[in-house]
Amino acid sequence: MNQTAFLPHRHLDKLFDLLHSDGFRVVGPTSEQGAIVYREIDTVDQLPAGLVDHQAPGRYRLEQQAHGRYFDWVGTAQGLKPWLFTPEQPLMVAREVAGGLRFEAVREEVPLTAVIGLRGCDLAALALQDRHFLQGEYPDPHYQARREQLLLIGVNCHRSAATCFCVSTGDGPEVGEGTDLVLDELDQGFMVQACSARGRALLVRLPIRPLAGGHKRRSKALRKQARVQQRALPSRDLRKPLYLARDDETLWQSVADRCLTCGNCAAVCPTCFCSRVDEESPLDASESTQVRRWDTCFNDEHSYLVGHVVRKSAVHKYRQWLTHKLAIWHDQYDRSGCTGCGRCITWCPVGIDIVEETRRLCTEVKTREPGE
Ligand code: SF4
Ligand code: SF4
Repeated sequence: MNQTAFLPHRHLDKLFDLLHSDGFRVVGPTSEQGAIVYREIDTVDQLPAGLVDHQAPGRYRLEQQAHGRYFDWVGTAQGLKPWLFTPEQPLMVAREVAGGLRFEAVREEVPLTAVIGLRGCDLAALALQDRHFLQGEYPDPHYQARREQLLLIGVNCHRSAATCFCVSTGDGPEVGEGTDLVLDELDQGFMVQACSARGRALLVRLPIRPLAGGHKRRSKALRKQARVQQRALPSRDLRKPLYLARDDETLWQSVADRCLTCGNCAAVCPTCFCSRVDEESPLDASESTQVRRWDTCFNDEHSYLVGHVVRKSAVHKYRQWLTHKLAIWHDQYDRSGCTGCGRCITWCPVGIDIVEETRRLCTEVKTREPGE
């Protein structure tokens, strides 16, 4: 059963103390190079107090406000992805030994990790990555080792950025299932909800007090306010229009004319999981390490096949990215691969907007349907 209480702002450091004494490192939001990012943090002072983000296509700015709330920003530059599916992951080392080669799988010790500040869209993305990395025939041992060490503390959004559309994907702005604690930040402190046995064990050791009726009303109003979003995908299942659009390259030309094929959208997307494997050897060739690195549909090498790049043009690359994300994922994982976080819109250097492009494609393909 979920248990809810109030934690005054001045006691948030007690949560950090408890986590540290239970052996967790704490990963949380902090400000770095003009953006909110997840980093290992030791104290409450490293949280982005009073910082508010302003996001728009191709734009992200932070503004310092006087209120001092810790979680008034909406989105971090990256979600949880790099902490589990790391950008660079050594997989295996082959070493020359007397009489042949010895192969050793790389396995690492991962510390217990408590992540604080996760939004609904990022927790939904985590569930999608779990599906991909853990629930197939061959679970990924590197992802699994990190995932097993996680304790998750979500924070409900109380406003949406201009780029958010999680209401239309069903993944936010409130935190869904899968967390241990959920925080709602109010002016004087936090409404804290424990959603798991570990969460309850933490909550009872905090200097909490009972919730007042005003706390619940204020939190409800703030959560309602966050549901007002400027963007919405036309549907949660876009297979029909996107499969129809697949064979008409002219439909993709206007976005391809602007797309730099830089791959930023895939890099910041909390659900994109493509990778490649490189072989690396020292000059004396005494050993060879296989290293997995993030890759995207926007790289030529990603579709290289026996001397031929299958998806060479921006039309082919962008079409692959969008069609996989919003249509093929349904066939693979029973839902779309987009949780509406808006990062691909914010961090696209030319401001290409996945929602706008999808709406345009859906409209244009409709006019070309036989019988229309
Ligand atoms: S496709 Fe864009 S909006 Fe959707 S989850 Fe990925 S980065 Fe977020
Ligand atoms: S859509 Fe934007 S971020 Fe994605 S590859 Fe094209 S230019 Fe880069």
